[in-house]
Amino acid sequence: MGTASILSMFFGRSKPQFSSTDVFPLTDAIMDFDDSAEGVTRPARREADTTRPRGKRTNAQRWGIAAALIGLFVLATLGFRALEMVKESTVYVLLGLVAFFMLVFFATFRQGLHFRFREKRLKLPIAATAIACMLLVVYLDPVMQILLAPFTFVAMAYGMYRISRARAFALAFATLAGYALVIALHYAQQQNEALLRLEALHFMALAVSLPAFAFLMGKVQMLHRILHRASRKLKNIQEDAQRDTLLGCFNRRYIVAALEEQKQLADETGIPLCLAVIDLDHFKRINDELGHLGGDEVLRNFARVAQENVRAGDLFGRYGGEEFLLIFPATSLLPALNTCERIRAQVESHPWKGLLQSRVSVSIGVTQYIPGESVLEFFSRSDTAMYMAKEGGRNQVVVEEPVSRGDPSVTVSLLDEESDMPSHGASTGFSMRETSR
Ligand code: GH3
Ligand code: MG
Ligand code: MG
Repeated sequence: MGTASILSMFFGRSKPQFSSTDVFPLTDAIMDFDDSAEGVTRPARREADTTRPRGKRTNAQRWGIAAALIGLFVLATLGFRALEMVKESTVYVLLGLVAFFMLVFFATFRQGLHFRFREKRLKLPIAATAIACMLLVVYLDPVMQILLAPFTFVAMAYGMYRISRARAFALAFATLAGYALVIALHYAQQQNEALLRLEALHFMALAVSLPAFAFLMGKVQMLHRILHRASRKLKNIQEDAQRDTLLGCFNRRYIVAALEEQKQLADETGIPLCLAVIDLDHFKRINDELGHLGGDEVLRNFARVAQENVRAGDLFGRYGGEEFLLIFPATSLLPALNTCERIRAQVESHPWKGLLQSRVSVSIGVTQYIPGESVLEFFSRSDTAMYMAKEGGRNQVVVEEPVSRGDPSVTVSLLDEESDMPSHGASTGFSMRETSR
């Protein structure tokens, strides 16, 4: 006679709740499982690419981008110098300006002075400084104005999401004013009409394209804002989709998907995994006496007590009604049992109000994952252990300890660790049952 039949004889179950051929009642959730919620132990294979939120840049990356853009301008200038189009002194002035202002901004960020500004990345001052330096270089060497227009766009695009449209327009007009001044100085010093005409052409090209670019920047910023708001809403929706609306803990969809994920991780890595099924005792009576709202309050208090007593990596969620799942990633049976026993004891000793005093308790079944078994089998063993706790008189933790007959290894290792078990275990009634597989 199989274990299931023996159990059913004693505990009134005709067959285990699930068999490996049944479709787990929420397997579709598994495909969508997102382990980004707080407190979730992420599988190791995901860790490498989740060390920081995607889309967020580190300071080093920001400096790298700015340095690369400046480097392009320097490179183009060196190219001009190689063709002997610019004076050697211009290159030195440019390098001096770059070194000086890089230092100034580095010191500003280092000293935390940027916190005094509303826009803490200082995109506008950086872009304005870059443009001013370019104008100075153009003043020193008129041929450098070939680079002025494209790199002014680069400087403005650098602050695309941070510089408001009004400020982008102001920057565009200031650039044009600065360029007009450079042209005037060139003419005053050189009286060169051909250069004046060329510079006037450049000026006109910039005068029509820069404000247009500032206008487009505004449009891009608007899209960026809309996208940002939408992604925040989506994040909230995702978060809500993982939560139980009444209790705030993970919901069935999430906890079942997390169980499947953790099982796969245990299969891949061989690290232990435990699962507890927790059920409130005689909850129907509590509802009958306090009404459903009173019952809801008990559920809320229980969920809070349970969550306060699990460790950071454990996953606690509502399976349905007054039944909960507690997943212990990377945990062997003994620590899992200790946590279950702590929850059971805390629920029992919780200062429940009025009629409820000393009447709220939980029955818990806990098991360790056997590599290779299905999620259904794993769940079913924990569920069976929970029903054993009910049959054993409720308010207790039962460990379902599967051992093959004649294979004492599992039993022995558990007995070896028995001294670590909670000392009050026997009196509060957690028990160990063995089932052969
Ligand atoms: P046992 O000790 O054998 O588990 O007995 P029980 O009364 O707790 O179990 P039973 O399955 O008979 O009853 C569970 C009750 O939980 C029935 C249902 O009305 C109630 N319940 C399920 N979900 C909720 C809920 O969200 N709020 C409230 N107030 N009650 C709920
Ligand atoms: Mg119950
Ligand atoms: Mg129940």
